[in-house]
Amino acid sequence: MGLKESATRTSINTALHYINGNPEKNLPRLMAFINTVMRNDTSFPGPRAAITQVINDPDNNLNQLVQGLFEDIDLSIIKKAFVNFVVNANFIGWEKQQKVREEYGCNVPWTILMDPTSACNLHCTGCWAAEYGNRLNLSLEELDDIIQQGKEMGVYFYIYTGGEPLVRKKDLMELCRRHNDCVFMSFTNGTLIDEDFAQQMLEVKNFFPVISVEGLEEATDFRRGDGVYGKVLRAMDILHKHKLPIGISCCYTSKNIPSIVSDEFIDEMISRGVKYAWYFHYMPVGNDAATELLPSPAQREFMYHRIREIRGTKKIFPMDFQNDGEYLQGCIAGGRRYFHINANGDMDPCVFIHYSDSNIREKTILEGLCSPMFMQYKNHQPFNGNHLRPCPMLENPQAIAEMVHHTDAHSTDLESPEPVEHLVEKTREYAENWTPEAEKLWKISHHTPYKETHEYIMSREQYEKEIVPKLNRKIRENTRNTRV
Ligand code: SF4
Repeated sequence: MGLKESATRTSINTALHYINGNPEKNLPRLMAFINTVMRNDTSFPGPRAAITQVINDPDNNLNQLVQGLFEDIDLSIIKKAFVNFVVNANFIGWEKQQKVREEYGCNVPWTILMDPTSACNLHCTGCWAAEYGNRLNLSLEELDDIIQQGKEMGVYFYIYTGGEPLVRKKDLMELCRRHNDCVFMSFTNGTLIDEDFAQQMLEVKNFFPVISVEGLEEATDFRRGDGVYGKVLRAMDILHKHKLPIGISCCYTSKNIPSIVSDEFIDEMISRGVKYAWYFHYMPVGNDAATELLPSPAQREFMYHRIREIRGTKKIFPMDFQNDGEYLQGCIAGGRRYFHINANGDMDPCVFIHYSDSNIREKTILEGLCSPMFMQYKNHQPFNGNHLRPCPMLENPQAIAEMVHHTDAHSTDLESPEPVEHLVEKTREYAENWTPEAEKLWKISHHTPYKETHEYIMSREQYEKEIVPKLNRKIRENTRNTRV
């Protein structure tokens, strides 16, 4: 660890101890101190002013959320999260990522999603994970190798999806121990969280569960099975009792809007100790996907406003994977900020895009990021200047079809491979219907025109002529043996 890193970590520890003594009084004092020290610093004046305003307003919901973190979560976990997430995954990691981006001209992610297993102890309606069957696994050593490679390029944040990741909870805890400098987040149905697992989470301090719920009892049990909601509440109680962090993930569909964002549901989750919520738009992935679950334009617009309202009024932080694209300049997949490795080792550009030309059992991560499919993503992001239409599958279906056709990407759904034409047939009408609503919302919130979608997909010939020679030279020299 360098001197600068060590000093930063010591300062964070000291600051957190100070805040923890009396968060209500000490947070504004600390912010005033930071503002004095940085009075001549012109970087991030907007965000700093906004944070100062929140921290000085005791009635502000986000202020109350932050105060609540110090009440409900063990201080050792907050410290670990700050060091691993803020310092390692952002400051230190970003610098390393930038170097690799510049050297290789490819996307380098901020986080990697991986499926330790396709096995699941539940079988939920419409779950894309169920499409993979339950026989595939990434071994402990393969998961470890992915993380080693990731850290070499500056990735300190890993997210588990599945299958049910906690089917492999012993291995996941082992990875937390081996990579004490990383943050691990895991989507889970929550049914395998028990006292013993909570004790292990307290010991490792770098594991953050995100429990999937469909709403209150009736909605959750309808999709996930009888008694599942009861088990989820039991898991939340265990986590809360041990002062462990709790997040939730919610898939919104035509059938559960608006109950999935109702006051009743949100308030219940807050009372259980939930601090953050990931909202996912239903994606019609897989041959048997239920297209009737796709939200209507009016329902999606409702979600756009409602998530922002919750963020501005409740003691919880919700993020909407589809409607918050405007804060991240559109699609973050293909390694731009993240990509997904399934339980068969296939490198999917996105957790919802199951077409790939790379597998970690045949290529290094870096080679995969430089593959034709990932380079197509990189070269054409954003897929639409209106970031409320970010997706090459959902809102710009022609894009995913063309990228698959111009590369050797194949369906990575081993149970029932889906031709890309079949996939885009399901989203074409949705994309057309959503466009006018998205245009209207964009004009209201941004007031500026954006660059129109264009003929952006690079042909295979162009790729081979322009990109491959540049990449080959560097990859051959540096990967396999030395990696980055
Ligand atoms: S591919 Fe679509 S779903 Fe995936 S990150 Fe990009 S916009 Fe989101």
